[in-house]
Amino acid sequence: MLRASQLSKTYGTGNEATRALREVGLTLGKGEMAAVTGPSGCGKSTLLHVLGGLEPADGGEIWIGDEAVHRRREKELAALRLKRMGFVFQAYHLVPVLSAEENVQLPLLAAGMTRREAERKALEALELVGLAGKRRSRPSALSGGQSQRVAIARAVAGKPDILFADEPTGALDSEAADQVMGLLELMNRQYGMTLLLVTHDDRLAQRLPRQIRMFNGRIVEDREGATC
Ligand code: ADP
Ligand code: ADP
Repeated sequence: MLRASQLSKTYGTGNEATRALREVGLTLGKGEMAAVTGPSGCGKSTLLHVLGGLEPADGGEIWIGDEAVHRRREKELAALRLKRMGFVFQAYHLVPVLSAEENVQLPLLAAGMTRREAERKALEALELVGLAGKRRSRPSALSGGQSQRVAIARAVAGKPDILFADEPTGALDSEAADQVMGLLELMNRQYGMTLLLVTHDDRLAQRLPRQIRMFNGRIVEDREGATC
């Protein structure tokens, strides 16, 4: 499903240079769920951004299925992201002037869906995250947990092959965090969606079948952990 090799990324130059990724390689099978863990600044977010084509790598290859992410230009990347990838971040990044359902429809319309189909798919996704009743609410009327559930609905409404989640529970209390984790796992079970979760929280990482630990720009441990 996802194959990356020899990924490197340096921010800045000279004395100011930070090597955020040092020849990182990673393979994720279809429907696999893995957590990327490690201390702050070790390169977790950079890895996720590079794999998702949000930031270019300096070197290396990334394949999503038979698509070469590393060879694509920005415009083609945007289309590839809309078609095959979903993203969830710590900050929900909902558009404040739009309702929950309009937020979920946005990427579907951008991907070329008809308005009617986008409305149907958005409602379906909001039902899945348990928020159909809030579909007309603006983000300001939603709690943090509800906002993140809308963001998850937006990320999965187009049925992407792979979901990238960067500290999705970082701003939530533990009850809302558990709910969000439960939803990510549900998306995996229901649709076979591959999940790559970045978290500094080992407890959350242990919920997933595979843990990839980073340190100083490298993967230092990759193991199939105990699931619960
Ligand atoms: P993590 O997600 O594990 O906290 P990051 O991938 O955010 O780590 O960062 C890895 C390293 O790269 C850190 O030293 C960070 O300060 C640096 N870094 C990340 N993004 C940038 C950027 N846009 N410009 C300069 N340095 C950056
Ligand atoms: P995260 O917890 O997702 O890693 P951060 O707060 O570390 O988020 O980074 C937020 C944004 O700031 C990211 O786009 C990242 O690339 C950028 N960034 C992180 N570290 C640095 C840095 N040292 N210099 C400049 N930009 C940075």
